Amino acid sequence: MKVSFYTLGCKLNYAETATLERQFKDRGFDIVPFSDQSDVCVINTCSVTERADREARQIVRRAMRTSPNAFVAVVGCYAQLEPEEISSIDGVDVVLGASEKFRLFDYAANFKKLSSPRIHVSSIDTVSDFGPAYSGGVDDRTRAFLKVQDGCDFNCSFCTIPLARGESRSQSIEACVSQTEQLVRMGYKEIILTGVNVGDYGKKNDTSLLNLLRSLEEVDGVQRIRISSIEPNLLNDELLDFWLSSEKICDHFHIPLQNGTDEILKKMRRRYTSSDYKKLIYSIREKSPDAGIGVDVIVGFPGETEELFEQNFNFIHELPVSYLHVFTYSERPNTPSIDFPGRVEPRIRYSHSDRLRILGQMKKSAFYQSQRGQVRKMLVEGSIENNKLSGYTDTYVRIEVPYHPSLENSIVNIRIGDFNGETCEGEIVSVESPATPISIEIPLVSTIGR
Ligand code: SF4
Repeated sequence: MKVSFYTLGCKLNYAETATLERQFKDRGFDIVPFSDQSDVCVINTCSVTERADREARQIVRRAMRTSPNAFVAVVGCYAQLEPEEISSIDGVDVVLGASEKFRLFDYAANFKKLSSPRIHVSSIDTVSDFGPAYSGGVDDRTRAFLKVQDGCDFNCSFCTIPLARGESRSQSIEACVSQTEQLVRMGYKEIILTGVNVGDYGKKNDTSLLNLLRSLEEVDGVQRIRISSIEPNLLNDELLDFWLSSEKICDHFHIPLQNGTDEILKKMRRRYTSSDYKKLIYSIREKSPDAGIGVDVIVGFPGETEELFEQNFNFIHELPVSYLHVFTYSERPNTPSIDFPGRVEPRIRYSHSDRLRILGQMKKSAFYQSQRGQVRKMLVEGSIENNKLSGYTDTYVRIEVPYHPSLENSIVNIRIGDFNGETCEGEIVSVESPATPISIEIPLVSTIGR
């Protein structure tokens, strides 16, 4: 039988789709692209924004057009949050929640199309299993995503993730080490630690992200470790000093800010003030002047007046950061902020988002240009465009080098050249770690939404 997959949302979802793919592959299924006809379609959904919900519904319909007789399974965050809504879409056979998503074979033994959809979604309060996951070649050919943590206890007032993924929980250090060893054996040089709230790693197992990093650093053959993102209040001095002193952990930080004014941060129920955040960023800059620092911002949160937006804009403008991820606020069912007063009109949300995106471009461009002449390590990825290969430095600067087959999946020292608006040109100075072939466990055919 043939099975196809579509993934929406974050890298954690990609890693979890890879686990589902392995389950099907182990049972003899052929994995085909989502655009091909298949017997089973699995859609792994996201529900962070209203747009993500809408996309999920469109993908289900697309599956039905391509494979009208396929068994359609919908899993992931949107499935946990709105199972009835999904089951009412024509063609859906099974909807699986957070606890059930890795047990598709228990709920659909022969994948025969059902006369009416079945919903298997436990209450999120009872979700406690972890669901180990790592991506090997799902979208990145040379970088592997390892799920180390799931769920979140922070309950920010705008966020659906705790409702969709449950309480914070972590995989043991031993299991993380063993999966990292497996990824190294497969040929991966860079491991990206992913989760919902990675900085919270180990809290309930009496350990910490710092201990995990110490153990992963010791794994033979690991060349680079990247941390997908970390909450600012969880990045303490001890962790920061270890992070920056490590030869293997990339000098790249993704630190959600969400808003630069204390008034909105408080309403968002974030656990830091704007001055805590600023202090952290300056501390990183002082210790590592070339570190890549990315910032998430939400625009148009209830109560964000014109004046508060200007304060937010100016705060971010002054911060020495490298790039922004700008999200336009959207009301999510069952979150506290849906009832907050001071709704911002959508057209204002969008125009403010545009302004911040332009600021983000300016920051990225200034950061890239400041790197000109530096020699840094770059992992050469496999994608070829215009006869060039690209990849990221440890500091998350995207670089292009002329194509050569022997470079794919090697780590090279490159001298950073001109910025062309998107990437920087790179001149190879020396090869740090020669290319190794990656033995990909699953074919590169998953379709990734965004
Ligand atoms: S820290 Fe806040 S925004 Fe991030 S997942 Fe947890 S509740 Fe959501």
